[in-house]
Amino acid sequence: MAEPRIGVYPGTFDPVTNGHMDIISRATHVVDRLVIGVAVNTGKEPFFSLDERVDMLREQVGTIANGDGTRIDVRPFNNLLMHFVVEVGAKVILRGLRAVSDFEYEFQMAGMNARLNPHVETVFLMASESHQFIASRFVKEVARLGGDVSHFVPPGIAARIGERLATENAGA
Ligand code: ADP
Repeated sequence: MAEPRIGVYPGTFDPVTNGHMDIISRATHVVDRLVIGVAVNTGKEPFFSLDERVDMLREQVGTIANGDGTRIDVRPFNNLLMHFVVEVGAKVILRGLRAVSDFEYEFQMAGMNARLNPHVETVFLMASESHQFIASRFVKEVARLGGDVSHFVPPGIAARIGERLATENAGA
């Protein structure tokens, strides 16, 4: 039997959105095993801690109708993405691509990663039309300003955002 095709879908997922969920469920058609790599991301101060982001993803991944029987794991990583990819035995990095805004960054990252390891391919899944404009950053902004984010994130995540903001406001 051929070796199982393992793919890594890396990101910050702060928090996971319907856009991410769409990519995750479509990625199950592309690989036999999907490892969602949750980056520590020291560059930006996250809204949710690494543990919270991992927990939320694990919860949400359980809701995916996974007809292909693809195994989905959620794992944190704080090293170089390519080292993490090799560590889990993946040959593919999966990324979502929204309109033109993501292109330059993704193009550069895919190019750098190809130089770091030419045996690993980056595969892009185009964001679905209905999720093109969803970004974790805007979800947080809308929620902070009292807007309804229930169309952008799964219900459990909207509730977690509400709880986080309530504790933030109580402490302020
Ligand atoms: P990063 O900090 O690495 O950009 P994100 O959590 O913001 O991590 O995104 C992870 C991946 O998911 C990226 O490839 C990003 O382009 C993709 N992505 C984010 N939002 C969407 C969306 N609405 N539709 C499709 N892909 C998306």
